[in-house]
This record gives sequence, structure tokens and C-alpha cells, in this order.
Amino acid sequence: MAGKRLILMGPPGGGKGTQAKRLQDKYQIVQLSTGDMIRAAIKAGTSAGQQAKADVNAGKLVSDELVIAMIADRIDQPDCKSGFIFDGFPRTIPQAEALDRLLASKGLKLDAVIEVRVPDGKLIERISGRSTCAKCGEGYHDTFKRPKKDGVCDVCGGTEFTRRADDKAETVKTRLEAYHGQTAPLLPHYEKQGLLRVVDGDRNMDVISADLERVLGL
Ligand code: AMP
Repeated sequence: MAGKRLILMGPPGGGKGTQAKRLQDKYQIVQLSTGDMIRAAIKAGTSAGQQAKADVNAGKLVSDELVIAMIADRIDQPDCKSGFIFDGFPRTIPQAEALDRLLASKGLKLDAVIEVRVPDGKLIERISGRSTCAKCGEGYHDTFKRPKKDGVCDVCGGTEFTRRADDKAETVKTRLEAYHGQTAPLLPHYEKQGLLRVVDGDRNMDVISADLERVLGL
């Protein structure tokens, strides 16, 4: 697994972030989530964050230039030397093409692109119940993953939970449209390169993890 370069694709709320984190923890390969990077930039008030904020809150994609610059910087960091998992990137054809060029310029190749497939009907419920421990970042869900003791994080004992501003039902609709209109067209791009693998994401998280490992030959 070390040295692998992967892309996890799938609709918002489809579980790719959870699966990327699990792969990171189990195989020490770094998760690169452009959504996390952009939320951190917004929180820190950087100029990239200020540019991105209105689009993120509206559920729209931010500009390709901004995201590509973030990734170009990030993959030069030492922790990326032993591979990485893109989570939420690329999301448009220009981003995928920029990534192809960026990797080629460094003599690197992708090993696989995994589509975590979930029907739209399931996503609104999944997303609207999400929350995160403000202290350690552990993810929870009102229906599918409640803390053992209500209001207390299982991992760190934190008692403050946050919900993403863009997880509101009306914003999720825009995010889904962006996925189908701008991101799903990347699937044939990677299929042509022989890199695409599909995993059924409409199942229990542990079953999906096992299937992912099987598909990746781990
Ligand atoms: P995520 O956490 O992946 O659901 O991303 C949250 C939001 O960040 C998205 O709805 C977009 O507004 C923005 N975003 C994240 N990744 C990208 C990307 N690769 N291209 C454009 N916008 C992105």
C-alpha cells in the first residue's frame, strides 16, 4: 500500500471522507481532502479562504485555479512522498487534466480511482444527520452513528459538536447537481485510462472498507 496514489470519488455524503481516513490510519498514506483544506483556509481567513467562502456556503464548486494551486503545493510536502489519497479532488475535467500534467511533470502515476457509488435518494438523509466533534474531529450521525453517551465524544470526551454550514438540505441539492454535472463526467476519463474501480457505497461502513481493500488488492 505504501507508495500508492489513489483518488476516491463519489457524491457528497457518500462516505469517501470516512473511507479515506480509514485507509490513512491503517496504511499510513496521507488523505488529501480539498474540502478540509478549503474549510481550514476559510476558518483561518486566508485570501484563498475569502475567495472560496461564498461558493462553499452555496454548495457550488470553487474555482479550478484555487484548488489546483492548493494541491500543487500540498503534494510537494514530505508526507506525500509515500503516496496519497485524494478525497474530493479532482472534481472537474480541467482539474483532472491539471492533475495528469502535474503528476507527469514529477514522473508520478495514479494507481487507481475508486468510485464509491451511492444512490441520490440516500444522500440527503446521510448528510443532514452529520456532525463532528469540535475538539478531535471524530464524525457522528444522528441515525447511523450516535456517541455511546449522548452529547459526549467517544474518542476524546469532548462535548461540543459542529455541523457543516453546507450540510443543509437545500445546499445539498446544489452539491448533488455539481457532482452529477461537473464531477461524474470524470469517471469515463479514468475508465479510459484503465484506472476506475467501483465500490457499492450503499452498505455498512465496515463492509465498504473491506470491499475497498479487496478492490485495491490490499
Ligand atoms: P467536500 O468536503 O469535499 O464535500 O467539499 C466541500 C466544498 O468545498 C464543496 O462543496 C466545494 O464548494 C468545495 N470544494 C472541495 N473540493 C473542491 C474541488 N476539488 N473543486 C472545487 N470545489 C471544491
